[in-house]
Amino acid sequence: MSTTARIHNFSAGPAVLPLPVLEEAQRDLLSLPGVGMSVMEISHRSKAFEDLLNRAIEDIRALADVPASYKILMLPGGASLQFSMVPMNLLTPGGVADYIDTGSWSGKAIKEAKKVGTVNVAASTKADSYANVPGQQDLTLTPSAAYVHLTTNNTIEGTQWSALPDVGDVPLVADTSSDMFSRPLEISRFGLVYSGAQKNLGPSGVTLAIIREDLLERSVDTLSSMLSYKVHAENNSLYNTPNTFGIYILGLTMRWVRSIGGLSAVAEINQRKAGKIYTEIDRSGFYRGTARKDSRSLMNVTFRLATEELEKTFVKESTAAGLDGLKGHRSVGGMRASIYNACPEAAVDALVEFMREFERARG
Ligand SMILES: *Cc1c(COP(=O)(O)O)cnc(C)c1O
Repeated sequence: MSTTARIHNFSAGPAVLPLPVLEEAQRDLLSLPGVGMSVMEISHRSKAFEDLLNRAIEDIRALADVPASYKILMLPGGASLQFSMVPMNLLTPGGVADYIDTGSWSGKAIKEAKKVGTVNVAASTKADSYANVPGQQDLTLTPSAAYVHLTTNNTIEGTQWSALPDVGDVPLVADTSSDMFSRPLEISRFGLVYSGAQKNLGPSGVTLAIIREDLLERSVDTLSSMLSYKVHAENNSLYNTPNTFGIYILGLTMRWVRSIGGLSAVAEINQRKAGKIYTEIDRSGFYRGTARKDSRSLMNVTFRLATEELEKTFVKESTAAGLDGLKGHRSVGGMRASIYNACPEAAVDALVEFMREFERARG
């Protein structure tokens, strides 16, 4: 293998990017067409950059049919800063925020919200080792809560909501970091969605937030400007110097998703990719899926082998075979195949082939 050949990348994040995006970025790295400078070398207030930012926003609006009453923001600090910004902006004094606990990331969101105000954990699947997401009947929602927060895809535990719960008129706030734009989503059902870009949207260092305009009124003026959704919205995400290169790559990635047919097309591919691995997991009992079948993630497929010894061997041999990033998160062990939008189906086929061979040799 030459040192520049690309291997099969199953990293949970930062994750694989679409090849056409990397190729375009490489081609235009020294000089953006018509600009004569790299995107990293121009003012964020230049027309060239503002055009690029606005095009990314328009592509996002078109991709998910984002209603005009929602603002599309590019924020710093990763999804982790959103764990703080959400309650700082939206949890009004004396109010209660409902949180649904479905794994490590929702746990971190809860931890930060508790520093700001009153949190009601409306449901938790911790007692079931986070193998599933709760059903509607499991939720203890607070009437007139400030918002309800959930994590649409649990990156570490390998579970995903297949349908959203009904939260009435309370704004639904979702951490969509690991499944954003992997399938159609009805933005009008949310008050706010946010995603660190490094799974499905682009490189790390940019966070996409889509917020219903009326919620911006909850951001009080005493809030630090950089922590205020209202300030970022009023300045079209240009209050300070944003991650210009990250926004550029995110924009190219959004254009790529549109070019392959948009969210329904990408959802169909994602269904098929995940289906291939789950079918292999269910085939013989040699592999054991960790998520309950009704809660299985189409983005992060988590599975185990009979012994930790065998899992170590699996990771070692798959890496040697050019399949990278299959080791599960250190907090849960086992294996995890992250198969975001940009993961080619050929990579999934190679993984399934490797799993069969591994079982033949060791089963
Ligand atoms: C990766 C991830 C995060 C953390 O994102 P950062 O950008 O590193 O802060 C939060 N939530 C979910 C669901 C994730 O997958």
